[in-house]
Amino acid sequence: MRGMKVQSKEPAMAHRPGRHFLQIPGPTNVPDRVLRAIDRPTIDHRGPEFAQLGKDVLEGCRTIFKTSGPVIIFPSSGTGAWEAALVNTLSPGDKVLMYETGQFATLWQAMAKKLGLDVEFLPGDWRHGVDPAKVEARLVADRDHTIKAVGVVHNETSTGVTSRIPEIRRAIDNPRHPALFLVDTISSLGCMEYKHDAWGVDVTVGGSQKGLMLPPGLGFNALSEKALAASKTNRMKRSYWDWEEMLKSNPAGFFPYTPATNLLYGLREAIAMLHEEGLENVFARHQRHAAATRAAVEAWGLEVLALDPREYSSSLTAVLMPEGHDADHFRNVTLERYDLSLGIGLGRLKGKIFRVGHLGDFNDLMLMGTLAGVEMGLHAARVPHRPGGVQAAMGVLSQPAIPAQLRTHEPVPVS
Ligand code: PLP
Repeated sequence: MRGMKVQSKEPAMAHRPGRHFLQIPGPTNVPDRVLRAIDRPTIDHRGPEFAQLGKDVLEGCRTIFKTSGPVIIFPSSGTGAWEAALVNTLSPGDKVLMYETGQFATLWQAMAKKLGLDVEFLPGDWRHGVDPAKVEARLVADRDHTIKAVGVVHNETSTGVTSRIPEIRRAIDNPRHPALFLVDTISSLGCMEYKHDAWGVDVTVGGSQKGLMLPPGLGFNALSEKALAASKTNRMKRSYWDWEEMLKSNPAGFFPYTPATNLLYGLREAIAMLHEEGLENVFARHQRHAAATRAAVEAWGLEVLALDPREYSSSLTAVLMPEGHDADHFRNVTLERYDLSLGIGLGRLKGKIFRVGHLGDFNDLMLMGTLAGVEMGLHAARVPHRPGGVQAAMGVLSQPAIPAQLRTHEPVPVS
């Protein structure tokens, strides 16, 4: 068999010069520094060199989630970290309150149902975030405290809408409801302000492939003391996702099973990079790029899917296609002509929107290239629009501060 060639049935992809523009809202562009950090021999994950790496990343994650409690790192996608959050805190048949912000909220509640939880899914229109008043009204009505957890998606990647987590926390606190608060930050962590401890979140779910600038493959849970206490008595069966074994091994820098060693090298580097830039600067950069993108969309005469300016996402912008035009055809044109990948419309938004990811390792000129690709693509695909979006975005980027009308919500003070 020596020398036998594996024949692929697929036609060979011709080389395309220059760098591909990966502007989906994650996985994001992995910076060279992170790639170089990953590009090392895999070491013994039970040896002393690994212990230091383990301690570095476990400690470093706390500074990103803004918590003094433990952060668990799974070799998994974000979906795995969703499952871990549920199976470690709840018992079969427990009532969980979730909110239909879009496709990812829909998938999370579907998972909760499959796991045997009793999900109440507050309906939403996929153009707004969680309405804290609706959550509060439901919790006020739940006098017997049958609801054991409230689960929401911070940044709904399918719609480009961000929910106001501190206000939802207050909606739980006002009626003094004891429900656990579970938050998905898969496309907000490392892009927008997030404070696990100060915002009173019990389990924060994260993933490696977006604001953390890593390839896919790591899932995270940040835990509060209340979540930890719940995990000691809850009755959901789990093995791989069990926090307990992780928490026994992690203090010494180890993991109960083989960790994704090379991704952890990358994670250590990515955390260092976020701190070198300064988290506040990282968040401001994302806000600026989002504001410039919205200015472009407005100039093209198109519509941003998010309806409430307080909920504009800093990570991505979802853009509605004009009636009678297929977003997927447009996306194919940008890919084929300009080597630019834009995000697809998911679930009920299929064909109706395209999403521009402006998160992760990204700068002004990458944004200009992306928006130029969109504008040229609109022209090439004969999508009705006005020219001048790129120019409008340049106008925003050349100003020292984001113009007031393009600013997204200010951070909400924690009371
Ligand atoms: N939640 C959100 C907000 C997401 O954006 C994604 C993926 O894009 C997921 C959950 C699922 O994560 P994964 O695809 O890594 O399993």
